Amino acid sequence: MNTRTLITGAHVVDPSNNRDAILDVLIDGDTIAQIAPVVEAPPGTNTIDASGLVLAPAFVEIHAHLREPGGEASETIASACHAAAKGGYAHVFGMPNTTPVCDSPMGVRYVIDRAREASPVHIHPIASVTAGMSGERLTDFHALLEAGAGALSDDGLPVADAGVMRLALRCAADLGCVILDHCEDMSLTGDGVMHDGPHAHRLGLPGIPRSSEAVIALRDGLLALETGGRLHVCHVSTIDTVEAIRWLKSRGAPVTAEVSPHHLTLTEARVGDYDTHAKMKPPLCEERDRVALIEALEDGTLDCIATDHAPHAPGLKAQLFDRAPFGIIGLETAFSVCHTAFVETGRWTLGQLIAWMTHKPSEVVGQRWGRLDIGAPADLVLLDASERFTLTQGHLGSKSVNCPWLGEDLVGRPVATIVGGRVAYGEGAFA
Ligand SMILES: [Zn+2]
Repeated sequence: MNTRTLITGAHVVDPSNNRDAILDVLIDGDTIAQIAPVVEAPPGTNTIDASGLVLAPAFVEIHAHLREPGGEASETIASACHAAAKGGYAHVFGMPNTTPVCDSPMGVRYVIDRAREASPVHIHPIASVTAGMSGERLTDFHALLEAGAGALSDDGLPVADAGVMRLALRCAADLGCVILDHCEDMSLTGDGVMHDGPHAHRLGLPGIPRSSEAVIALRDGLLALETGGRLHVCHVSTIDTVEAIRWLKSRGAPVTAEVSPHHLTLTEARVGDYDTHAKMKPPLCEERDRVALIEALEDGTLDCIATDHAPHAPGLKAQLFDRAPFGIIGLETAFSVCHTAFVETGRWTLGQLIAWMTHKPSEVVGQRWGRLDIGAPADLVLLDASERFTLTQGHLGSKSVNCPWLGEDLVGRPVATIVGGRVAYGEGAFA
């Protein structure tokens, strides 16, 4: 874009600043210079008419799997950036369960450098809690944070040993960072591949009991309460975990939590006839769990939406259900899926959904992103909230297509993503 760009006539939805009106937005270089009902453009300003579109802070993703290094057949940092830009994201946190595991300052810098070459989208590597994600010896949190790690997590695996997790949370308390927790007791999960319920029994598949998630969420929440270390519970999937977090928060534990678009909209029934695009961890649960997750997000027990974007190359997902890997992609579809399910139906306002995808996840990781502040980086997304479309592979940006919503009719879609004043993805006047 030009040095100065004026976006006129958009419906600006900026929940953290209580903006919800037709406004003009002036971008000067890489920052937001002015937001007002009418902005007089200085000479030489490039003006774009965005009437009919929603303009919001670009989204913030705190839980994605970028797969590089080691899993480039499924995703690269560049393709993940493309997926993020198509989904409206300016900031993406990448989990460390790559090959090798991101457990060294060198590994952290590798991800940052690759991302800078690839895209204006900001990629923040998350470093592992334990060396090699072995669950045994803590990594050097201080050195990893100094190198640029945005948080710490062994996501994909739990930190099985409670003593190791307690020590990790004590370090997190000292350093003021957050640990993102994949809550799963592997001794309960065993060889389970889907929720332990009637559908697993019908399909003859080994089930994952609901206790597997809740017992670790409660255990680690108690450790956070005891140590003062900040704990963020990833991908909450059951009513039991919701109740555990509600109780922990009532006790003042420094705990936050996220929920994924798929757990908000799908249940175990989606597995249907062994559809591997409905195989994920934690597994899709029952309708009463789904309802509890929606209510918990609405009442603040859950803090934000995160996708757990987990690309797997087509060959991997084409295997038998019990052999296929867990996970689906989500960056490109998060807004559309949630908008269709909850905003189009009148349950949520657009502002609620945008808050859960912008400044709320940003606060979890201690940042002030996801807000249209004057003088802040010009990170914004243009949304066509009324567009009705059928989701096709053309809407995706990932190298992988493991998406359960392909072929479904959705309403509302990001049409441009601007990061630091640069167009990361754009259609129409933003192309
Ligand atoms: Zn996980």
